[in-house]
Amino acid sequence: MLTARQQHCLRGIGIDAWAEREVTSGNNPAAEPVADILSVVDLEDIRRFANTGDQPGFPEQIEQATNLPQSSESDLEKRGPSPVPPAQPPAAMPEVEARIPAKLDSWDSIIESIHGCTACELAQNCTQKVPGVGDRQADLLIVGEGPGHDEDIRGEPFVGRSGQLLDRMLAAIGIAREQVYITNIVKCRPPNNRDPKQLEAQHCRAFLEAQIEQLAPKVILSVGRVSAHHLLASNLPVGKLIQQMHKLPGTEIPLKVTYHPAYLLRNPSAKAIAWQDLKLLHQMLQ
Ligand code: SF4
Repeated sequence: MLTARQQHCLRGIGIDAWAEREVTSGNNPAAEPVADILSVVDLEDIRRFANTGDQPGFPEQIEQATNLPQSSESDLEKRGPSPVPPAQPPAAMPEVEARIPAKLDSWDSIIESIHGCTACELAQNCTQKVPGVGDRQADLLIVGEGPGHDEDIRGEPFVGRSGQLLDRMLAAIGIAREQVYITNIVKCRPPNNRDPKQLEAQHCRAFLEAQIEQLAPKVILSVGRVSAHHLLASNLPVGKLIQQMHKLPGTEIPLKVTYHPAYLLRNPSAKAIAWQDLKLLHQMLQ
């Protein structure tokens, strides 16, 4: 049973009802259920973080954003829920010819190379490249799918309404946007906000890998279906991937999957699951 204060905190991020769910380790099926770990998370500590401002919880505009009209043609709608495909075995990533010859051994070289990149067709129609933003020594790396309309205009990932919600989600566990590094699978906006194609993501992968190498994050938060599928080389439904703990393939870096804020804006009931993800993320960063 949650206390009144905890319930207030949850209402602040738009969660009216909340219940534990069992999470298992995808990399180690024998590991104990994460639900056991969650039970030791001090909700009061997390709530304390969420209440550091004068008005804990999300601002009014976020609440308004959760009531977007279903007929909107905004990026959020295009990035909203899609039918969940049946579970399938992980997809093998195709081998592609490397088109990014630059040395990517420093932040400056990475950013410069992204801005000059024409390795895939996405470079032709985007307004500008969106390499990433944030603390280059952050413990937490957040990876989304690709720039949308607002991001393409601003040159920064996760802005607009979904970005505001992401910021508030982080704030609920005591993390400021400036304390994390945020980037996407692809650095150029796909036309009409379609999903990045497999080959586009593969061509852009060198940049993401170089960013991960420079950052050496403690934890990666994979946001949304497209991000999770590309990072984990999987096409399992994101609802399945959320229930498991992962490591970035080829590394020991823990990777947590959660829903995209745009999906949460359209499906407020999923915020309860996202809240659990946030609690686990908070614990992983300790
Ligand atoms: Fe280059 Fe990535 Fe943009 Fe494609 S999406 S042009 S690989 S920066």
